[in-house]
Amino acid sequence: MPPITVVGSINRDLVLTVEDLPRPGETVLARGFVEGVGGKGANQAVAAARLGSRVRMVARVGPDADAILRALAAEGVDVGAVRPAPESTTGIASVVVDRAGENTIVVNPGANAELSVADLPQRLARSAGEVVLVQHEISAEVVAAAVLRAREQGGTVVLNPAPARPVAPEVLAAVDVLVPNLGELATLLGAEPPAGPDGARELLELAALPCRAVVVTLGADGALVKQPGRPAVHLPAPVVDAVDTVGAGDTFCGALADSLARGADLLAAAERAVRAASLAVTGLGAQSAMPSAAQLDAAAG
Ligand code: ATP
Repeated sequence: MPPITVVGSINRDLVLTVEDLPRPGETVLARGFVEGVGGKGANQAVAAARLGSRVRMVARVGPDADAILRALAAEGVDVGAVRPAPESTTGIASVVVDRAGENTIVVNPGANAELSVADLPQRLARSAGEVVLVQHEISAEVVAAAVLRAREQGGTVVLNPAPARPVAPEVLAAVDVLVPNLGELATLLGAEPPAGPDGARELLELAALPCRAVVVTLGADGALVKQPGRPAVHLPAPVVDAVDTVGAGDTFCGALADSLARGADLLAAAERAVRAASLAVTGLGAQSAMPSAAQLDAAAG
């Protein structure tokens, strides 16, 4: 099985639970605190590794990241291409969650902003069909270079354009599978966010994106898969008791990459990713709730 390369962010997640989110100028006492590994890049790498893929990460961290790198390595993620940023600190996400599950998040990109084109390995896709998975928590310049290089080397390029920002048409044209949520799709097309599966379908039929295929994630509604020359296919999500949706999109992308690396076709890969992400929302935390292959297969019955 060809490996997966993730080019993206690594964060230290500081998660504080509170009764009510503080208003401007207010100080509240937390009821709990957990520190963990996060960042869209690291989350997606762990999601794919849990499902059995060989995953390596290309990223930058500060000198304070020993425990984070150990945790990623313990998940089976190869951190050999994670470079130090001696003058910086590892990215930090300060997450405050209230009793209703509502949250506010402040991210300091730190070392993630230092990841440069020179940090990218010469060979991003080392064999044909190797999946290269990229998100938007690093600079647009690095995203563009990674996508174009991976495509040139025969890799299967998956871009999760999160957080939302526009992408140059020549970069989109080198993407095999674009995985936006509804808000990110709207940003890419300069449109209002579509309402649910039907709105997303209409938008995709009207405004063609230059990438090969698009998989729109729809939260509890599952996902919509649009491939060239074929009508969009809606894949509903299983009905689950959703406890915490943080990291749902990351689980989806990691699981999609895992299946694509195993040679699955896009519809089958997206169907498995919908099921993996729907399992991830039934537990607290981003990485802690990501399923293993055995858990995912058991849930399928
Ligand atoms: P996040 O930013 O919270 O990680 P996202 O906006 O990137 O999420 P979503 O579209 O909300 O991504 O969710 C990704 C996938 O997670 C969905 O395609 C679906 O498979 C699953 N999912 C999310 N919410 C639910 C839910 N309430 N019930 C079942 N599945 C869900």
